[in-house]
Amino acid sequence: MNRSSTASRIKTFVWLGVALFVTAVAIVAMVLVLNARTVALADGEDQATRFVASAEAAVNQSLLAVDVLLASMDELLDLSTSMASWVDTKTTSQRLRGSARQNLMVRYVALVDDTGKTLASTDLSGSALAVQLPAGFLANVLAQPVSKLMVSTPVVSAGSSERMIYAARYHRMVNGAQVMAVAELPAVALREVLTQGAYIRGLQVTLERGDGQLLISVPSREEILPLATAPAATAGPGSVPAAAPGGPPSVGLLLQGSARLTGEPALVVTRSLLYEDFRITASLPLLNTLSKWREQRNAIVLTALLFIAMIVLAGALAQRYLNRLAQARAAIAQSKAMLDQALESMVTGFLLLDRENCVVQWNSQLEVMYPWLKGTLAPGQPFRQCLQRTASHIVPALTDDARERFLDQRLHKQSLGLMEPSEQQYSDGRFVQITERTTPDGGLVISYNDVTAMRQASAEIESLAFYDPLTNLPNRRLLMDRMQQAIAASVRSGQHGALLFLDLDHFKLLNDTRGHEVGDMLLRQVAERLRACIRREDTVARLGGDEFVVMLNEISTTSVEAAAHACRVGEKILSTLSAPYMLGDYAHHISSSIGATLMGGAGQSSADLLRQADIAMYQVKSQGRNALCFFDPQMQITISARAQLETDLQTALAAQQFVLHYQPQFHLDGRIVGAEGLIRWQHPERGLIPPGVFIGVAEESDLIVHMGHWVLTTACTQLAVWAKDECGRHIQLSVNVSARQFRQTDFVEQVIGVLRDTGARPHLLKLELTESLVLDNVDDTIAKIELLKTKGVRFSVDDFGTGYSSLAYLTRLPLDQLKIDQSFVRNLGVRHTDDVIVQTILGMAENLELDVIAEGVETQAQKDFLAEHGCLYFQGYLLGRPVPIAQLQALIEAAA
Ligand code: C2E
Ligand code: CA
Ligand code: CA
Repeated sequence: MNRSSTASRIKTFVWLGVALFVTAVAIVAMVLVLNARTVALADGEDQATRFVASAEAAVNQSLLAVDVLLASMDELLDLSTSMASWVDTKTTSQRLRGSARQNLMVRYVALVDDTGKTLASTDLSGSALAVQLPAGFLANVLAQPVSKLMVSTPVVSAGSSERMIYAARYHRMVNGAQVMAVAELPAVALREVLTQGAYIRGLQVTLERGDGQLLISVPSREEILPLATAPAATAGPGSVPAAAPGGPPSVGLLLQGSARLTGEPALVVTRSLLYEDFRITASLPLLNTLSKWREQRNAIVLTALLFIAMIVLAGALAQRYLNRLAQARAAIAQSKAMLDQALESMVTGFLLLDRENCVVQWNSQLEVMYPWLKGTLAPGQPFRQCLQRTASHIVPALTDDARERFLDQRLHKQSLGLMEPSEQQYSDGRFVQITERTTPDGGLVISYNDVTAMRQASAEIESLAFYDPLTNLPNRRLLMDRMQQAIAASVRSGQHGALLFLDLDHFKLLNDTRGHEVGDMLLRQVAERLRACIRREDTVARLGGDEFVVMLNEISTTSVEAAAHACRVGEKILSTLSAPYMLGDYAHHISSSIGATLMGGAGQSSADLLRQADIAMYQVKSQGRNALCFFDPQMQITISARAQLETDLQTALAAQQFVLHYQPQFHLDGRIVGAEGLIRWQHPERGLIPPGVFIGVAEESDLIVHMGHWVLTTACTQLAVWAKDECGRHIQLSVNVSARQFRQTDFVEQVIGVLRDTGARPHLLKLELTESLVLDNVDDTIAKIELLKTKGVRFSVDDFGTGYSSLAYLTRLPLDQLKIDQSFVRNLGVRHTDDVIVQTILGMAENLELDVIAEGVETQAQKDFLAEHGCLYFQGYLLGRPVPIAQLQALIEAAA
């Protein structure tokens, strides 16, 4: 149901209520009015009835008095025994006067004969009084069969011009003649009797005969005529008109009849008198009876109207209020609709939380951005649930505990108002910026802004700014930036890096002959190959055209090694780039020139370095291209020398110019227990070259593997020789194994193969591994050592103490011997810390049940110190220098 129909329903209810109240008030008013009317009528009726009753009594009494007066004439005047002619006027009149004096109402009493002649009267004129009776009255009185009081209609007296009424009765004389005693009564007197002085407003009192003939009325007919609506009396003056409306009044109470005089609606009460068929009627016009009631009625109606007006006013006010309410509601609904519309049209996700951190409102964009929330959001829902759902979608791998902890932290931060605008990246690559703002009522507005496009754009801008669009390699700007960082880092770490400046040979030719597209194709492939040549931490950049720069970071702490490494990488690049390129369906060969310089000296700037590499590159170009050249001439010499050495070593290996010398190893008791094989190079021109000169170079390539193999084979051959020699059969031989050699996947097979091929007894072969080698890949080391130990081969840790081995590793390794490094031995008795280190090594080895041999023992004091702390085996110039096999053989035999 919509709001407008609700509003109109409420309005209908209001007006129904108004109508109900108005009706109730009207009914109550009506009842009150009617009730008051009934009471008023009852009062009037009561009044009229009482009035009529007392008027009746008074008139009856007055007429009775007159009747008695007239009836007493017979006795007073002895009329029944006399005759008319006998009547003495004088005495009779006197007697009459005496009798009539008692009745105040009577004006005079006269005795009249049947001709109308006055026989006597109470008037002073006596018989001279001319009684003016209404016409026919005398005859009427005399015609009565039985004498009774008769009353005439009023007539206007000629003398006094008063209205007079005559009451008469007849007496029979002795001769049978009739005389009439008549009394004249002023109508006024009778009126007074009738009203008895009582005044009731509007009351109309009539004394009428049964035939409707009006005798007296109060007020008099003349008084009311101008007011009366009844037809005017047609009778002439003196005649008594019939009472106005209708026939004679019926006796009794006639409520709401017509007033006898005016004919208006009135309460009419009629009673009959004792005489003739006289009736007294009191008419109380309703107009008068109800006058008070009318006032009441008016008051009630007025009050009711007032009430009704008030109710209608209240209804109108209510209606007005409802209208306003409806308008206000409509306005609210409209602004809410507008707000909703605004929220929905937002490209930002929106979430409103209340102060209890529960959801109040959100927009559909939010559900678009977080589809897993779609359909799950509800007003009043705790925000935590939304976060939970989001967390389990974004990082499903998170354990429940970890997720709850994360949520706790998140909500705690939020509750402290510490949430700064943050940006989240989701696994689908979207970036969403989240901003939180508190609302005045303590709630929170969170807006989610998808800034993926912005991020992509800025990434693109960055890429344009820092990367070469053709090859996607860093451009000059980024390179300079990275160089600066690398220089700073190398100053801190003391590590050298190198910069290689590369230029393709005759690229311009290709570009000019085949077009730029082909040139671009080549550049892209070159970039691809360059990238494949370097480590992750290094950088390949394109400066423009066919110029590329390779930056190698933190290669080595020594400049020589760094240069050697740079040289190797440069050569790798040269060979990689010289492989043919497929440019469309055309294969192309191209060479390149590389200029190199070392990074790591203090005070270098990136621009300087780049210039140096560039100069070196031009040097290569001038010397015939397709090569690498260092900027520093000295460095170039060193590098060249190393390169030469490597070539020479290869030749030496092939020409079998290496010899193995043996340095004897002694037991504390002086016995020769073994010897260490140490390689030397018998150079045809330079003489015997010690290993320190060439082992480093050899170790940088597979040369060392071949060299090691040669040493191992030589040593094992010697062991096999000694196996048949009485003196030499117990001699052990130690052989140094380089890291590169040990890490060969087939190292174990190689050793086993050499043992098998030479027939040497494995338990007399001892392989010396350096600490750093052992620790570099412990699992591989253990696996290989264990495999060889199953054959009986023994292991010694060379240069022990320099690699800071931890005891934990040593216990894991299946070793046989520790060889205390000569640097510690050299300082025994000189540097106290070295004394302690040596003692510790000896103690530790004892616990692990390992042999210890000290190398580089040059003095007796060193030997004594070592012996004193439990060292049993010794090697050093004090006891014997490395010597060719013939000399060692001599030593062994001499000792035997
Ligand atoms: P290293 O394995 O520590 O060998 C001991 C070096 O100390 C030898 O030098 C030896 O002549 C020298 N030496 C022995 N006693 C004393 C002494 O009392 N005082 C002094 N100052 N030096 C003493 P060498 O022969 O010049 O060998 C140098 C290094 O070359 C060896 O150190 C070893 O690391 C490496 N090397 C030698 N021969 C081989 C080999 O066949 N294969 C491998 N991979 N490396 C070898
Ligand atoms: Ca050694
Ligand atoms: Ca050593």
